[in-house]
Amino acid sequence: NMAVGVLALQGSFNEHIAALRRLGVKGVEIRKPEELDNVSSLIIPGGESTTMAKLAELHNLFPALREFVKLGKPVWGTCAGLIFLANKAYGQKTGGQELIGGIDCTVHRNYFGSQLQSFEAELSVPVVVSKEGGPETFRGIFIRAPAVLEVGPEVEVLAEYPVPSTNVLYSSSGVQIQEENGVPENKVIVALKQGNLLATAFHPELTADTRWHSYFLKMASEAGEGTSSSIVPVSGN
Ligand code: GLN
Repeated sequence: NMAVGVLALQGSFNEHIAALRRLGVKGVEIRKPEELDNVSSLIIPGGESTTMAKLAELHNLFPALREFVKLGKPVWGTCAGLIFLANKAYGQKTGGQELIGGIDCTVHRNYFGSQLQSFEAELSVPVVVSKEGGPETFRGIFIRAPAVLEVGPEVEVLAEYPVPSTNVLYSSSGVQIQEENGVPENKVIVALKQGNLLATAFHPELTADTRWHSYFLKMASEAGEGTSSSIVPVSGN
């Protein structure tokens, strides 16, 4: 009952499962509500959040996902997964999309999408930098990525990205969105944590660097302490 689930409706779930396997941990594909009973933590991959939400609705997954979050079980959302975990989302195509919620923040769904599309950036992320040396930064892969523009007091900001001054974003009506939302010093939030919920705007599962997966597994095993061992090792291959 203690494996790591990976929501497998759409998007980069196979890459997450492969990253877990590299760390010796079995990732279990989740497509039905009852499958959540078999896992003690969950990863929601990147992909396309509207499509993923439609599929989640079709499979009647939202009540079970909200319950999972409410029980305090660790959940990590990458990119579209971050959007799912936000209490509020806006940006293009927001109409009617359901969210799981849980992180007290406002996300812009396509913050980087319209102008930069996809890019990579070295991020300073103190929580994932290993004490035994190794790179001091994490290479974030951003694909039509969201960004968090506002957070509540319970949220821990883990990484920010400096927005070039030439990258001021305007809405279709010509309103400067950054100013509207009061983002200080041209920085947006690209990794954050609230309790057992973790979210990244970029895709660690698309790199060979498993430090974010290790960090999440540590969260999961700490949350599982006192129950029994919370991580199931890969058997065989
Ligand atoms: N901006 C995308 C969305 O709204 C997320 C992109 C991604 O997960 N790579 O779903």
